[in-house]
Amino acid sequence: MTDISLQAVSRHFGKTVALDATSLQIAGGELFFLLGPSGCGKSTLLRLIAGLLEPTAGRIFFSGRDVTDLPTDQRNAVMCFQSYALWPHMTVRQNVSFGLEVRKVAPGERKRRVDEVLDLVRMRELADRKPNELSGGQQQRVALARAVAVSPACLLLDEPLSNLDAQLRLEMRSEIRRICKSAGCTTVYVTHDQKEALSIADRIAVLKDGRLMQVGTPAELYHRPVSSFVAGFVGQTNLIPGTVRHRSAGKLIIETKLGMIQADGIARGDEVILSIRPEHLRLTEGPAAGNHFAAKLVETTFLGESSEHVLSAGESAGAIELKAVSSPPVLLPPGMVQLSCDPASVVVLEA
Ligand code: ATP
Repeated sequence: MTDISLQAVSRHFGKTVALDATSLQIAGGELFFLLGPSGCGKSTLLRLIAGLLEPTAGRIFFSGRDVTDLPTDQRNAVMCFQSYALWPHMTVRQNVSFGLEVRKVAPGERKRRVDEVLDLVRMRELADRKPNELSGGQQQRVALARAVAVSPACLLLDEPLSNLDAQLRLEMRSEIRRICKSAGCTTVYVTHDQKEALSIADRIAVLKDGRLMQVGTPAELYHRPVSSFVAGFVGQTNLIPGTVRHRSAGKLIIETKLGMIQADGIARGDEVILSIRPEHLRLTEGPAAGNHFAAKLVETTFLGESSEHVLSAGESAGAIELKAVSSPPVLLPPGMVQLSCDPASVVVLEA
């Protein structure tokens, strides 16, 4: 399986720096996500790996081989576009077979391979239909089958689920992971949707303004973000500014508008931002162990398996809005409540 290495790769468009001296290693067979806000450089990075764009500086390697100056087909990279780009006049089977015909694969082997990938995407029974006789999810499966049929060194997916409705997106998430893993190709996947990335990625790179902010597993990014940008972008969080007043043996006491908060961790400077996930803020009846402070419950939304709360805490002039999630649901009338959280759940970030 092909690993991908980017060494100080930049891409400029006139004065715009779409990607800035980015170095990145993607392991063979990995399902690797590029995540970030609009304009952060995700598509640029994907197109550079695909060979659809040339870097302004830096080199790109596939399993140690320098592919920077090679076109897409010679890299054996296959890009799957949002629109699926299926040929409307061809059947499912013909669409999937086409790449193998171009590569002059013998007819017997071609049929075997097409059957194999149609089975993989569970579309063998619909092989004689045309794309306009398929649902959006089925078209997505055919596009994936066509891409993996040619056994690409790397598969590049640009927002592959963006044309599907919410329910189908959920179903296709795990299907895409299953298909990519079974096909055994290294996959780079661009999305805006952090839940999509958290749910199926092996690792995720978070980008902002053409730079990598953090690369890690979903759990690392969620539980150990290195900046308030990553903490706020990957999942919901409460960001609370504060000043370190005491530090000893991996324990900090931080003064905030909510009062003194204890955190497990270290801080280089005194000015910090605390990240506390909504599910780590508990609504309690009375004083609790660990951090606790009074807050005004503004609104509760019942969501079946959980409830989401909007709260306001701190001095009225500079009150901070907080979000908390209770699972199983806690339903209380608006008014004053106690909030508590464990020092181990408080992530200390540089201000
Ligand atoms: P989105 O999520 O909106 O698709 P993105 O993260 O994929 O955004 P890119 O498309 O990589 O972002 O764009 C990064 C930056 O480069 C943006 O500022 C964009 O305007 C600029 N850019 C991209 N392609 C071109 C181009 N062909 N000419 C000029 N500027 C471009």
